[in-house]
Amino acid sequence: MKVAVVGAGAMGSLFGALLAEAGNEVWLYDIWQEHVQTINQAGLQIEHDGNTRAIEIKATNDPEQIGPADLIIIFVKSSRTQSAAETARFIAGSDGLVMTLQNGMGNADEIAEFIAPERILAGTTSHGATLLGPGNIRHAGSGPTTIGPWAATKDGLDRAEQFADFFNRAGIRTEAVADVRSVVWNKLLINIGINAITALTNIKNGQILDLEITQELSRVAVREAVDVARKLNVKVYDDAMDIVFKVAEATALNRSSMGQDVDNLRPTEIAAINGFIVREAERLGLAAPVNFTLTALIQTLEYHYK
Ligand code: NAD
Repeated sequence: MKVAVVGAGAMGSLFGALLAEAGNEVWLYDIWQEHVQTINQAGLQIEHDGNTRAIEIKATNDPEQIGPADLIIIFVKSSRTQSAAETARFIAGSDGLVMTLQNGMGNADEIAEFIAPERILAGTTSHGATLLGPGNIRHAGSGPTTIGPWAATKDGLDRAEQFADFFNRAGIRTEAVADVRSVVWNKLLINIGINAITALTNIKNGQILDLEITQELSRVAVREAVDVARKLNVKVYDDAMDIVFKVAEATALNRSSMGQDVDNLRPTEIAAINGFIVREAERLGLAAPVNFTLTALIQTLEYHYK
């Protein structure tokens, strides 16, 4: 199986490395020249549990060098999905499958503008990784990965199962499901309840629970999103709020990814998280004032980064 990763930052490098270590041909594609050069010269350094290993893996910023691949995994931040999907279309040729495990909602639909939906697998992962510098990542945590077909076709689930097996053989614990939309939505709800609030208030995930008023803010944001999901007939957890608070507790000392983006003055994924709810609510005639406020505040903060 030949795999190409488009967007080989923290997560793309991690998944690429695990698949390469299992003996597959893997290419990392990234637009960041220094990162690509460092990986080709010195290998990819992966820090895990205090140990660092170097992996020999091919990296490039030229899609032509890769040639057609069987699986293309898109791991850019959601604001870059469109250009990554264009590259993925080129690498996928006529048969390759494209997978997204990105956070937020809208990525798979954006990819579907370039690749037929029957050739798209979407999902979520609980692995965590941090980019430490060019050619250098930290594998911060492990957890399950769930994938499924984006389009409901007859053989979609079979195909997802084949790729789940492929991931499992590389030590990436993966389950295939038919209704992956629900899975992506449920992860979205967690991000909606935690990310923007922690990013704006400079707190860690667990601190959402310290004050009743912060809990209520999170609750209302999630409730607005659940209303949108239900209107779209997406099955989301009945106890979404309990799950959001359990995740906040389990990751109490972590700074959310949006928090880290704001801390480092990087663009956030707000448009694919709370912003997605604002757009969908408007389209469906629902109200989402809390998600609107969180989106507006993050976008204002980003605009004024110094
Ligand atoms: P990252 O910023 O570390 O990596 C993104 C990479 O994409 C960068 O190396 C960047 O140079 C590259 N890139 C940007 N535009 C590109 C383009 N047009 N073509 C090719 N490469 C391009 O991001 P990350 O933390 O790896 O996150 C990637 C996605 O995975 C996000 O949606 C994130 O929410 C999700 N995610 C992250 C984690 C985590 O622990 N980091 C966990 C689960 C999900």
